[in-house]
Amino acid sequence: MLSLWACAPAPELLTDGQLSAALAVAAEVDTTRLTNDVARMVEAHAADPGEVRAPWDRPHKRRAGEATLTAALNELGLTVTVEDDSGDGWEIHNLIVEFPGVSRPDEVVLVTAHYDVWYQGADDNSSGVAVLLELARALIGKETARTVRIVAFDAEEVGLIGSARYFRRHINDDVRLVINMDSVGFASTEAGSQVAPPGFTLPDVGDFIVLMANDVAAREALVLGQLAGALPEPLALQGAVGSDDHRSPGTGDFHRSDHSQAWTQGTPGLFLTDTTNFRNEHYHTETDLPETLDYGFLTQVGQLVVAGAWAIADEEDAE
Ligand SMILES: [Zn+2]
Repeated sequence: MLSLWACAPAPELLTDGQLSAALAVAAEVDTTRLTNDVARMVEAHAADPGEVRAPWDRPHKRRAGEATLTAALNELGLTVTVEDDSGDGWEIHNLIVEFPGVSRPDEVVLVTAHYDVWYQGADDNSSGVAVLLELARALIGKETARTVRIVAFDAEEVGLIGSARYFRRHINDDVRLVINMDSVGFASTEAGSQVAPPGFTLPDVGDFIVLMANDVAAREALVLGQLAGALPEPLALQGAVGSDDHRSPGTGDFHRSDHSQAWTQGTPGLFLTDTTNFRNEHYHTETDLPETLDYGFLTQVGQLVVAGAWAIADEEDAE
């Protein structure tokens, strides 16, 4: 049911030209900006009392993060569309920035991360939000064949509510790939720092990113594997292609973020994560703070996401 690969033996799926084009865009990812963006989001969340709502016993914070992310995107000259999907007791604001494709605008590459947090949420998920901002900066003034749509989801932490409503509303979109990030900035070089989810084998040093794909995104997963190995500082990557079911413990852990809502529609989706509670002791606590992150690692993940989004958004139509 599951197959694992290390990044080294990934087949050469991108041509040299495609690879160098993607890496050139990825080279714009900047460690200082990522660091500052995480700090800015965390500062906003820290000043937000949030809401403690049953059955959870922790402050869930959304609105200061929404305002801060919107302001950061507006400062770049970008228009943010707030998709209001409120109802059933939840006010839901998904934030969308779109870079229309020049030749195949109906074909969409979605790059996503949730902006809501428990407590201050540095790794979970200001790290992912910071990469969204770097992707937005990298795409300004450039053209891709397909549309790149950046979506920051509301209310992931309380049951994937924002993404569930987004994908339900957009069920007829021609989405070629979803790249979802949830907690992508924590790494450790210490032996024993990594624990594997049930039913899984992982190295015991938590210095790699995990990439999970559904079967219809297996090729795109290999493309990201190729890119990870080609970065200026290659990013260690553990990949897995899993089935769409939630039934076994191993695949259940594959579904713990917003990409799951795309997978259930059969939409190709990749999930990048540092594995959160299987590595990071600060997961969902008050100590998930900016100083616990590894910004070199976050930079590598950012480069991978920007390169991957570019490669898929600008590839020739092979089908
Ligand atoms: Zn999260």
